[in-house]
Parts: sequence; C-alpha cells; structure tokens
Amino acid sequence: MKLAARVSRIAPSPTLAMAATAKAMAAQGIDVIDFSTGEPDFDTPEPVKAAAEAAIRAGFTKYTPSSGIDELRGAIVDKLKVEQGLQYEKSQILVSCGAKHSLYNLAEALLEEGDEIIIPTPYWVSYSDQALLNDATPVLLATKESEGYAIDPAALEQHITPKTKALIINSPCNPTGATYGRRMLERIAAIAVRHHLVVISDEIYEKVLYDGASHVSIASLGPEIAAQTVVINGVSKAYAMTGWRVGYAAGPKDLITAMGNIQSQSTSNPCSISQKAAVAALRFGEPFTKQMVAEFDRRRRAIVEGLNAIPGVSCSMPGGAFYAFPNIQGVLGKHGPTGPVNAPTDLASYLLKSAQIAVVPGEPFGSQSHIRLSYATSMDTITNGLKRLRGALEKLV
Ligand SMILES: *Cc1c(COP(=O)(O)O)cnc(C)c1O
Repeated sequence: MKLAARVSRIAPSPTLAMAATAKAMAAQGIDVIDFSTGEPDFDTPEPVKAAAEAAIRAGFTKYTPSSGIDELRGAIVDKLKVEQGLQYEKSQILVSCGAKHSLYNLAEALLEEGDEIIIPTPYWVSYSDQALLNDATPVLLATKESEGYAIDPAALEQHITPKTKALIINSPCNPTGATYGRRMLERIAAIAVRHHLVVISDEIYEKVLYDGASHVSIASLGPEIAAQTVVINGVSKAYAMTGWRVGYAAGPKDLITAMGNIQSQSTSNPCSISQKAAVAALRFGEPFTKQMVAEFDRRRRAIVEGLNAIPGVSCSMPGGAFYAFPNIQGVLGKHGPTGPVNAPTDLASYLLKSAQIAVVPGEPFGSQSHIRLSYATSMDTITNGLKRLRGALEKLV
C-alpha cells in the first residue's frame, strides 16, 4: 500500500520499544534487569485512585468538554500561579492525553513545511519525530557534557535562521538530568524574544529535582517571554500516573485554541475518569511526590557511584529527572562475543543479549557516547544490575 510520505520520516519510539522488549523477556521468565523504563516504579497515590473510583461510581464516564473539564483547568491555573507565579485564564489551558499528546497538538498547530525548530541535544526522542511528522525540519543544537549540557547562547544564535519558528527546552532534561538555572533561562529568553521564537518548555520533570534546587519556568521571566512560551507539563512523572494519560499545555490563547480545535477533531477529550484523578493529584499529591523524589535521590547516588566505579564508564550527577546518562566511550571499540562494540546501540544489544540488561542507547537522543539507565527501579535491581553490568563490560576485549 502506498502510505503518506510522512510515515517514512519517523521510527517507533525507541525508548518504548526497548521497554517493551524487556517486559516481554521478563514475561517469558528471563531474569532481565530493566533500566530502560521511563516511568516511576511507584504506585499511583491512594487519594488519586479514590478520586477515580468515585468518578466511576458517580457515572462520570461520558464525553467531557474536548479541551478538558473546567475543574481540572482551574486546578492547573491555580498550580501554575502558586508554584510558578504564572497568570493564565482557563481558556489558555488545554488538557490532552499525556504531555506527549500536548506536544503533538502543538507541533501540528504551529509547524509547517519550511519551518525549523531548534532542539538542544541530547534530547527526548519524540521532539524531532513530531516535527518531522508535521513537515518541519528539526535543527539540532549540540551541548557539551563538560559544560553540564548548558545551552551556549552564541551557538543558539548561530542556529537561528529566518525559518526558525520555535525552540524546545526541557529542564530537568530527559535523558541527561541537566537543569537550567535562572541565569541561563534569562539569556535564552532574551534571544527568543529578540528573534520572535516560540519557546516550548517541557517541564514534565519539574518536581523531580535534587539537592534542594527549585524549578524556574522560563515563562515566569517576564510578560514578553510569557507571551511566546508554551509550558508543557502533566501528571505522569510527578504522581506516578503514566498510564492515566493526562498532560497539559499553557500558553497564548490563539495557539491554545488552535491546538484545542485539532484535539476536538482527533481524539476529543482525555479520559473523563483520569481528569478527575488528575485534579486529586494536583490538590493532594505533594506529600507523595516528596517521598518518591527522596527515594529517587538515594538511588541516584547509588547508581552514579556504581557506574563511576566501572572501568571505562564515567557518569555525571544528574540534577533532576530519574535517569543516569553515563559516558561509555571508554568501552567503545572493544569486542564482544557477538561482534565489535563501536557505538551505544552495539553496547545496548550486547548487554541485552549477553547479560539480559536493558538500557537505552544514546543515538536516538542524539548522543554517540552515552547510554541511558532509568533509576526508577528498586535499589535491589540497581545493585544487582550494576554488578551484572560490570561483569558484562569486563568480558569485552
Ligand atoms: C515522559 C515524558 C513526556 C511525556 O509524558 P506523558 O506521559 O505523555 O505525559 C514528555 N516529555 C518528556 C521529556 C518525558 O520524559
């Protein structure tokens, strides 16, 4: 069958694919150590489940307004005001089926052929594919591990052309765990305002921050930058609700309205029950998130220390999210039983086949020298996994 050209530009999400392979192996009884999954291993908090049960019992099981229920949009307005100091009307909020869907609606409403969108690397895999699906050109802006993956303002300016429409920022970042401080956000905002770029600020890991750091939204840096920023967030990561599929976008009214129209013609409303659950998460979820992040912090220290103890591996300490992103250049160029290990993908497939360890290779994130390990998994898995990883790497010659 002759399919639309756009489908040939993209691949299935490699992170979801690796997680599916690891889960399938485990289902076959294989003792697989899974570092690939990009979701909290915690259960959804009780008050959230209770709100969903109550919604079902009350018959809140029909279509809702396509852009989300008033109660949830109101809770999001309150959250953004109290936590980020941002002022939005409910009409500036669109609730979608996950932050990924929010980003997709945005790409569809904003981008067209000839447009360029700047994506700092390493980056979350879907940004570039969503741009490609909407006929735009992703322009990758390299950042350096040695500089904490900070965006170099001069390099950013050099990547801007008359075709540049938007810039994506993701702090804390998946996969690097890097966070952007106020000073850097101010410099990015100044450039974005000067060049009239839409800033897409993916803040999904906003609450998964360590060492007492607090999150700054670029939209909070002044009315000019606020007017051209779309804040993307959701409940998946902060409240262990990945399966419920609720995310949202907050931004300029015309853009949000256009995104809402697209949603009304494609998916209609996000799940009614999940929307009620998301209200409870925003209202009562804070203590849960604090406990979860404290546990992630313990694991973060353990996995980074363990990785740095393995010859050929070096790992910087992530400031947020729940991923370690070790540099594995020291083991590239070696040989394993199944052939040479010249790139992160070779290493990931060697680890999966020979040691039953699932990690995500760096290439789809835009790195030729890293792999990503999620530490949203038990301390036992981390301890055993590191031992096994060390053994597997020592077998390379
Ligand atoms: C997980 C993730 C998302 C999407 O989360 P949803 O489950 O779709 O809400 C968006 N951006 C980044 C960087 C993520 O890691």
